[in-house]
Amino acid sequence: MKSSNLGYPRIGKDREWKKALEAFWAGKLDETTFLAQMEQIRKQHLVKQQKKGIDWIPVNDFTFYDHMLDMAVMFGLIPKRFAYAGGPVPLATYFAMARGNKDAVASEMTKWFNTNYHYIVPEFGERTPVLTENRPLQAYLEARDQLGIAGKPVIVGPYTFVKLSKGYAKDEFERVVDQIVPLYVDVLRELELHGVEWVQIDEPAFVLDLTGQDKVLIRRVYEQFSQALPHLKLMVQTYFEAVDWYEELIELPVHGLGLDFVHGKTANLANLTTHGFPQDKVLGAGVIDGRNIWRSALEEKWELVKTLCTVVAPERVWVQPSSSLLHVPVTVEDETDLPEEVRVALAFADEKLAEVRLLVQGFQYGKYVISKEIAQNEKDLQRLAQSPARNRQEVQEARKALASTAAKRAVPFHERREIQQATWKLPLLPTTTIGSFPQTTEVRQARQQFKKGNWTVEQYDAFIQEQIREWIAIQEQIGLDVLVHGEFERTDMVEYFGEKLDGFVFTKNGWVQSYGSRCVKPPVIYGDVQFVSPMTVKESVYAKSLTDKPVKGMLTGPSTILNWSFVRDDVSRQEVCEQIALALRKEVEALEAAGIRMIQVDEPALREGLPLKQADRAAYLDWAVKSFRVATSTVEPGTQIHTHMCYCEFHDFIDAISELDADVISIETSRSHGELVSVFGTCTYDKGIGLGVYDIHSPRVPAVAEIEEMVSRGVQVLPPGQFWINPDCGLKTRGREETIASLKNMVAATHAVRNRL
Ligand code: GLN
Ligand code: ZN
Repeated sequence: MKSSNLGYPRIGKDREWKKALEAFWAGKLDETTFLAQMEQIRKQHLVKQQKKGIDWIPVNDFTFYDHMLDMAVMFGLIPKRFAYAGGPVPLATYFAMARGNKDAVASEMTKWFNTNYHYIVPEFGERTPVLTENRPLQAYLEARDQLGIAGKPVIVGPYTFVKLSKGYAKDEFERVVDQIVPLYVDVLRELELHGVEWVQIDEPAFVLDLTGQDKVLIRRVYEQFSQALPHLKLMVQTYFEAVDWYEELIELPVHGLGLDFVHGKTANLANLTTHGFPQDKVLGAGVIDGRNIWRSALEEKWELVKTLCTVVAPERVWVQPSSSLLHVPVTVEDETDLPEEVRVALAFADEKLAEVRLLVQGFQYGKYVISKEIAQNEKDLQRLAQSPARNRQEVQEARKALASTAAKRAVPFHERREIQQATWKLPLLPTTTIGSFPQTTEVRQARQQFKKGNWTVEQYDAFIQEQIREWIAIQEQIGLDVLVHGEFERTDMVEYFGEKLDGFVFTKNGWVQSYGSRCVKPPVIYGDVQFVSPMTVKESVYAKSLTDKPVKGMLTGPSTILNWSFVRDDVSRQEVCEQIALALRKEVEALEAAGIRMIQVDEPALREGLPLKQADRAAYLDWAVKSFRVATSTVEPGTQIHTHMCYCEFHDFIDAISELDADVISIETSRSHGELVSVFGTCTYDKGIGLGVYDIHSPRVPAVAEIEEMVSRGVQVLPPGQFWINPDCGLKTRGREETIASLKNMVAATHAVRNRL
């Protein structure tokens, strides 16, 4: 039996990778120094894995930005706008594709499957693919010749690579795959010539809903590989879900198959035990969760591997994480401030590799060699399980009781609309914003001062009040119809609530890569989630005291808090989400009681939680949408519930949005306006809709005429009475002056359209 890893986090223990990148971009590091630093980080990671006793260490999982971008660049898929003239791709071109430059907009970025990692979308159709370099080979040679590590090069397989790319029509998919396969063969052949034994070829798209045609294509591609590469061993690696076409998959002419026995455990295990596993293949057994931060229950994992070994001979089993460890932080080592019961139950990348190694040692030398560790592990996990934080009877009872309620508002929307119209007397096309206003250096510094203890509560509160006062006055002056307090007290829309609710902890260094150099430090939900005391009432009430205009309260919704946190794995995600919903309900009720009668509950991550397989989606949407209603349905009919989502594909999602039963939804749409407007135009969605009428992603101030055109287009497909006017979300990232100027233009444009109606 061997131990293996699929990918190691790039960012480094102290985010040194991120720091080097950003210093280079800022011109503070020259290219030579930058490359030297990157090399050092890369090698450190390899040596670390070697010291952990990992037999099959991945190489080429490291990148300067994103592994999909690396593949695109290797295949010469460099859009024309980047003015690339052939030959080795300059670093400047590479980063321009990722981040844009003064002449060209960046390539699109999108979510990597159901993770919070974002990759750069390769663009076909602009250039004929050519091999510009052999990155996996370079990585392999560096590790072998300089460190004595004969690694396992990792590449994204052709099916997944093309599936996740753009620039071709749907019916051209096969042609594009066929076009790229010879380049893969060239890359792999060179690897073979240099003595590479195993290549990990990542095909996570194999777990999606495949057609018969897809499977024929995959078969054809892998047959080509096997004919062209008689000596090279391919480990076809799947993850994030089970494979639905197991019987055909195991027939592929490759030497190894990697399956996820965490996120697709039930189905993958059932397939394996029912249909067996080929005698001539290695099983990559993904038994340690590569997506969460919890220690594994070792005894359980032991049993799992034992079961696998009843089907596959142990010498053909690689024990490994379920996916790349890219999705978890580096090490728990520095998390000294956490409650002890939580700390001992955490496992980040390094600790997960230790678990892999431990299991393999047990199987190699006998279980007794790891019995001490298993016993300690049991004790640690027991301790967390018995912690009062995980045993809040009241919360659990309240959550269970939800099963028998539909969590619906007492009065249907069309009646609420009448009541609300009579209360607010808003003009046609009411203008508002999505919640946040510019978080200047001053604002960020103030929060820092407070956090460090340099400022008293009074000092900090006074500062926040001053910001609110200033921006209420600005909003009145701009002439907006519905105002917000501005969210100055929030670093982040999830962290802010996590810090105020019971059941959360925050790590010191639990960073994971989100995209490029950007890292996030998700809150950790470890216990039953419970409301403690009002979280937003003070600021909203203060804002409202300053104006006669309506002020919208501002909360983050249950699925967004769930999807942007690391979540405990001893209960279902549904259960956690519903607990959060019940806690938020108390906040909604507190706001209402304090006289805040418009409340926005943001759900930008609702869609992100969608399972990869179509068949699982309805169940998720059921509880995610219901959770939103649990949080928002107990208010008076006259209280107006708003929600907000960033850009998302609505055509297959509109029913879910309707089921939220929010009185108004605002959406970031300016970059795909036509498309979204038409979706809403063709469906029966009858509630309020705020379509973002200008893009806030650049400091540019949109002209009145430009916005007017957007608004006019909107009222052609939506009844004007249904339509709200707002910018796209994210004003917190903008400067003060451009925000004011843009919003003034937005209001002027709205008035112009209003006058014509
Ligand atoms: N209310 C939040 C804001 O305006 C919404 C952010 C988001 O949608 N991601 O910043
Ligand atoms: Zn948004």
